[in-house]
Amino acid sequence: MSEAKPFQLDPNESRKVGYIPQKQIDYYALRLHVIAGDLSANQLKAVAEVAEKYGRGEVHISTRQGMEIHFVHASNLDTARLELDAAGIKMGACGPRVRIVMGCPGSATCKFGIIETKAIAKELDRRYFRTDTPYKFKMSVTGCSHNCAKATENDLGVMGGLLPAWDKNICIDCNLCVNICPTKAISKQEVNGKSEYVLEESACINCSVCTLSCPVNSWTASKSGYTLLIGGTLGKIPRLASVLKKYIPTEEELFNLVERSIDFYRKNGRKKERFGHTLDRLGLETVKKEILGE
Ligand code: SF4
Ligand code: SF4
Ligand code: SF4
Repeated sequence: MSEAKPFQLDPNESRKVGYIPQKQIDYYALRLHVIAGDLSANQLKAVAEVAEKYGRGEVHISTRQGMEIHFVHASNLDTARLELDAAGIKMGACGPRVRIVMGCPGSATCKFGIIETKAIAKELDRRYFRTDTPYKFKMSVTGCSHNCAKATENDLGVMGGLLPAWDKNICIDCNLCVNICPTKAISKQEVNGKSEYVLEESACINCSVCTLSCPVNSWTASKSGYTLLIGGTLGKIPRLASVLKKYIPTEEELFNLVERSIDFYRKNGRKKERFGHTLDRLGLETVKKEILGE
């Protein structure tokens, strides 16, 4: 007589709540809900304890700052989940829905940081985590154009950006900014026998190289805001994200455009089609205009 299986879960339902079936029958990876890569020291201890008790004493850190406990037997899933829950750790998600939001340290600790990445990531998570989409939907918040959190490789990416302004009274005419601006958005012009450094806003990518490099702080950030990117993905058909709007001055406008972007994908994306491939199928410029309401 064959042994009855102790526990059976619907694979789609289990993925939704972060129980990912392994190739080893009746064993699961527990995917944890880690927002922007942050867990407290106490939470890490709880993860270690659960991995020791119910897994094989190992924790896997994913390429998207996620954390997974592998080799949890089906019969232990709920007990392990409750122990993690007691430490304030929820379960992650898999399948066709909004996944964990990634984030870099941002302005809280990084000297290049322009925006508070953690706050934005938490708000995105609060609004959208685990909600259904045509296919997997990944988001990332990165504090500046160094792009450490890979906003360009996510379905939706938020990047900190600033608008530089030049103070002619303190400039020492060293020409450094002209040489180091990555997009050649700054040019030097002679006006009445004096040098003037002129910004071409359409060429500027709001990256902060000039403001961080000018030896006398002649270039400073007149305003800080957000760049919103859409349609990035890795996978079988990789695609770097496209800029939806280069400079967004307020959080309110940012979240409004995020909502419109996700709403567009929900209405127009095909099953198992990543957002970027929806954009390519329907025409990037046409979709951008629709999302921007132009
Ligand atoms: S993206 Fe910018 S703010 Fe974020 S960690 Fe990298 S350098 Fe710092
Ligand atoms: S912010 Fe970056 S792209 Fe814009 S002018 Fe400064 S260095 Fe150039
Ligand atoms: S780097 Fe600063 S000091 Fe040098 S030319 Fe540019 S604005 Fe002037």
